[in-house]
Amino acid sequence: MTAVLGIPSVLGITGQINLDYAATAPCAQAAADAVAELLPWYGSVHRGAGALSRRCTLAYERAREAVGDFVGARPDDHVIFTRNTTDALNLLARALPAGTPVVTFGGEHHANLLPWPVGSVRLPVPDSPGAAIRGVDAALRELDRPALVAVTGASNVTGERLPIAALAAVARRHGARIAVDAAQLAPHAAIDIAALGVDYVALSGHKLYAPFGAGVLAGRGDWLDAAPPYLAGGGATTHVGAATHDVRWATGPARHEAGTPNLLGAVALAAVCTSLDVEALHEREQALLRRLRSGLAEIPGVAELRMFAPDADRVGIVSFVVAGRDSAEVSAELARDHNIGVRDGLFCAHPLARRLITEAAARAGRRDFPPTALRASIGLGTTPSDVDALLVALDSRRALGL
Ligand code: PLP
Repeated sequence: MTAVLGIPSVLGITGQINLDYAATAPCAQAAADAVAELLPWYGSVHRGAGALSRRCTLAYERAREAVGDFVGARPDDHVIFTRNTTDALNLLARALPAGTPVVTFGGEHHANLLPWPVGSVRLPVPDSPGAAIRGVDAALRELDRPALVAVTGASNVTGERLPIAALAAVARRHGARIAVDAAQLAPHAAIDIAALGVDYVALSGHKLYAPFGAGVLAGRGDWLDAAPPYLAGGGATTHVGAATHDVRWATGPARHEAGTPNLLGAVALAAVCTSLDVEALHEREQALLRRLRSGLAEIPGVAELRMFAPDADRVGIVSFVVAGRDSAEVSAELARDHNIGVRDGLFCAHPLARRLITEAAARAGRRDFPPTALRASIGLGTTPSDVDALLVALDSRRALGL
C-alpha cells in the first residue's frame, strides 16, 4: 500500500484479512523504519556519554516530545512512557491523592474499571451521550469533593464515542479531573489534551500502528510528582544514600520510568505520531464503517451491539451477534475458511458486552442470541474488499450472488 500524506502504510501478510485492529493494529512502515534505523545505535538511554548512548538518549526524549505533541500535551504536562494503556491507568490509579473517588461507567474496558480504588463510583452504562453527561454531573454533585472521572474516548465494544469535551467541562465545573482512556480513540481521531480540557490521556502503541510494549500516560504533573514511584529503581532517583530510607526520588517522567526504558517502542510510537494525521483518515474510515454496518444490517439474524442511537458518532469498530450461532465457532470458521481474523468473546468489557447482547436480543425479540459476540474493527490497511469478504463469508446469499 502506498503512503499518502498523513496516512502511512502498514505491514501485513498477503492473503490474510485482518479485521481485528481494535485488539492490535498492524505495524506502520514508519514505525518499522524508525526501529531499523536505530538498531545499529544500541546504547544506554540516560546513562552514558558515548556517541551511541547520547543518540539513544536524544531519540528517547525526542520521542517523548513527538508523542506529547500528538496528544496535545500542555507544556507542563508529563508524558510518561508505559507498557500500554493498562499500565498507564494503573500508574494513574497509584498516583491518586488518598481518598480521591473515581467516577467511571460500568461499560468501560476492564483496564479502566479494575485499577480504581474500592469506593469508586461506577455509573450505569449511559444510553446516550447526553445521559453520560448528566450521569457524571449528578455523581460529582453528590460526591461534593474532588474526584477523578475516568472514561473511555471510544468504546472497544461498540466504537461509540463519549462526549469527552463536554464531560471535561462538567468535571471542571465540579473541581474534578478527567482521565481519558484513549486506547481506541487515538487510532481514529485527533486527541488534544489542551483543547479538550482533559487532565490525563492513556493510550497503547500497539493499537496505534506501533510495536507492543510502548504506551503513554500524559497529563498533569502534580499528582504524579507527589506519588510514590510506580517502579522503584535506577533512573527514578536523584540521590540514594547508605541508609534504607535515604532516597530522593526524581520528579517528572523519570520518577515513574525506573529501569532501562523501551527505547525502540518509544521511537516507533513517535514515528507513527509524526506520520499519522488521524483526521486525514476520517472520511475513508467512516465510509468503510458505513459499508460494514449497512452490510451487516442486511444479513438475516445479524444484530449489532450498541449503547446509543444507531447514528451516534463511532470509530471503526462493530460488535455483533449471529442469532443461533456460537460466536467462537463463527470466528473460527471465518479464520479457517476465509482467512479473516475477527475477535469473539466479551472483549475485556464483560459487564458492557453482556448487557448489550441482552438489549440487542430484546430489540430483535429473539431468544437465540449467543452469550458472546463477534467484533470487526478496521483501520489504516483496511480496504472495501476486506469488508466485503466478511459480509460474503457471513451471508451465504451474498456468496451465491443473490
Ligand atoms: N482501554 C480500551 C478501550 C481498550 O480497548 C483496551 C484494549 O483493548 C485497553 C484499554 C487496554 O489496552 P492494553 O491491553 O494495550 O493495555
